[in-house]
Amino acid sequence: MTPTEREAFKQIIEKQIESLGNEIEEIRSAIYPNRGEGTSDKVAHISFKQEQSIHFQRYEEATKRLNRLKHAYLKVDTPEYGICKECEEEIPLERLKLVPESIYCVACMNELGL
Ligand SMILES: [Zn+2]
Repeated sequence: MTPTEREAFKQIIEKQIESLGNEIEEIRSAIYPNRGEGTSDKVAHISFKQEQSIHFQRYEEATKRLNRLKHAYLKVDTPEYGICKECEEEIPLERLKLVPESIYCVACMNELGL
């Protein structure tokens, strides 16, 4: 990976951390709506609960991904970044562009069942 590419990835990761942070805020406000907006209708209350559990799932996935991105951001300046933890080969740049927090190449991910 060239220093220019590394710099580009740093910016990609930065942007993704920022937009994911915003997304997490949105999900958070969907999970905890302002008081008074809640409904006393029982059916609506059940669907609210169902929606809430979907939001919770999204919230968990988003926070996990945010942690991985933050980790990648700390690593992006080190030679470790972009190297598969398993086979120690370079992770293809095309894959890193899609998933900049990757720590495994696709082959190893499949092998590890991730
Ligand atoms: Zn690998």
